[in-house]
Amino acid sequence: MPSIVSLQEKYMKEALKQAKKAAALGEVPIGCVIVYQGKIIGRGYNRRNTDKNTLCHAEITAIRRASKVIKDWRLEGCTLYVTLEPCQMCAGAIIQARIPEVVMGCMNPKAGCGGSILNLLQMPEFNHQAIVHRGVLAEECSELLKNFFIDLRKRNKDEKERSKAENGKEISSENNCMSGESS
Ligand SMILES: [Zn+2]
Repeated sequence: MPSIVSLQEKYMKEALKQAKKAAALGEVPIGCVIVYQGKIIGRGYNRRNTDKNTLCHAEITAIRRASKVIKDWRLEGCTLYVTLEPCQMCAGAIIQARIPEVVMGCMNPKAGCGGSILNLLQMPEFNHQAIVHRGVLAEECSELLKNFFIDLRKRNKDEKERSKAENGKEISSENNCMSGESS
C-alpha cells in the first residue's frame, strides 16, 4: 500500500497538471483536484481572466464538478488538493461543502485563508472544520507560479517596448509629413 505522503504527492501532481492548463491560457497557474475513494471526481484550474468571472477559481470549478458526480452538495469523504493556499472565497466554499480534508501545495501570504491571513478552514466557531496538510510539493507549486510571473513581467516589458517603438515611428512619420507640406 502506498504511504500517505506518496499518495498526497500523487494527487498534488494531478493538481499541478491542472495548474499547467491555466498557465497555457495565460492564467495564474493554480490547479485543484478532489478525490473520493481513491478516484478523482473533480478537476479545476484558474480561468478567471478567460471566463471574465471572479468565481472561476480552480477550487470552485472542482467542487462544482465533484458535486455533480456524487450528486450532493456535501462532499463528505472527499479530499481536496490545491496547488496554492485557498483564498477566502474558496476556503468558504470548502467549509460550505463540508470537505473534511484539504491538502495544499504552497502558501499564499498575501491572500491565503488556509492559515496565512486567516484560517477559515479550521475556525472552531463554524460548524465544520477541515483537516489541513500544508507544503505538499510546495517547491514545484511555487516554482510554477514564480516562473509564470517572471514570464508575465517579461511579456509586459516587451509589449511596452514594442508600443514605445511603434509610437516613435508614428511621430517621426508625422514629422516627415509636416516637413513635406512646408517645403
Ligand atoms: Zn479562490
